[in-house]
Amino acid sequence: MICLQPITKPSVLYLGPRKPLKKPFKSLTPIHSLLQYNRKPQLAGETPRVVVITSGKGGVGKTTTTANIGLSLARLGFSAVAIDADVGLRNLDLLLGLENRVNYTVVEVLNGDCRLDQALVRDKRWSNFELLCISKPRSKLPLGFGGKALTWLVEALKNREEGAPDFILIDCPAGIDAGFITAITPANEAVLVTTPDITSLRDADRVTGLLECDGIRDIKMIVNRVRTDMIKGEDMMSVLDVQEMLGLPLLGVIPEDSEVIRSTNRGYPLVLNKPPALAGLAFEQAAWRLVEQDSMKAVMVEEEPKKRGFFSFFGG
Ligand code: ADP
Ligand code: MG
Repeated sequence: MICLQPITKPSVLYLGPRKPLKKPFKSLTPIHSLLQYNRKPQLAGETPRVVVITSGKGGVGKTTTTANIGLSLARLGFSAVAIDADVGLRNLDLLLGLENRVNYTVVEVLNGDCRLDQALVRDKRWSNFELLCISKPRSKLPLGFGGKALTWLVEALKNREEGAPDFILIDCPAGIDAGFITAITPANEAVLVTTPDITSLRDADRVTGLLECDGIRDIKMIVNRVRTDMIKGEDMMSVLDVQEMLGLPLLGVIPEDSEVIRSTNRGYPLVLNKPPALAGLAFEQAAWRLVEQDSMKAVMVEEEPKKRGFFSFFGG
């Protein structure tokens, strides 16, 4: 069993310095004192928790979030199934490095060509994490596949012989059309991923309205691709600005990190890296808060704390 450390639940998120650290943990020492190693997070709410990961705008990090939070949940000891509901542009399998193991998809399950468990792809590293793809790559949304079919699928996962998973994560397609409506239908909570730019925020705001209209009231946001140097130079909105604009509780703040792109290309989610990259730690912390239905009071620090404490952009 791989050691879970450092799975953390700090009230402080360390986001710097920008240059990759050669020995990250040496630099993180002052923060270490704030981390909690000695307990497993308490699973809040009714299981299975059906969580849709959505954004409105494409390319903001939904699939990256689904892969990393999913595997963090598995590392924390919870069972999770990730459904790739981005039918036309399916890529969750690639991010997870599982593309060669997808033999059947939900389309074949619905056609009666295979059983549900044959379409569930077990992760190579964590057997309590499984992937389910709706259809083959580049195919269109199957005719008649909508919210009802996805709800049926979620019910089928709940009623599996081996028991319901703790989490069902749904990776939502971009946009607000049929694919989006389908993906949100069975969910009872949402993780809204946004980047701190005006187009992404506008879409996120619209999506928040649609989620609430659909009865999903438990919406938490992840602010992704945050660059402290740009915030400092007032070239990027701060996380506080984003919080004020969307008015949603904060699940996590993920820094812009070249390791994310590297891990995407390797099909090896960031949270499995050793030593963990900064963005990986941030995803782990977000997963922890998701489990406990907690949100974050962020204090972003840019450099190693100096003699008199942290240099913070904002506190809360
Ligand atoms: P979406 O599913 O919303 O379309 P993806 O998760 O596929 O977005 O991410 C789009 C691209 O952005 C990918 O190439 C991914 O590697 C990159 N990316 C996502 N998050 C970060 C980050 N925090 N730092 C750097 N690159 C990122
Ligand atoms: Mg995606």
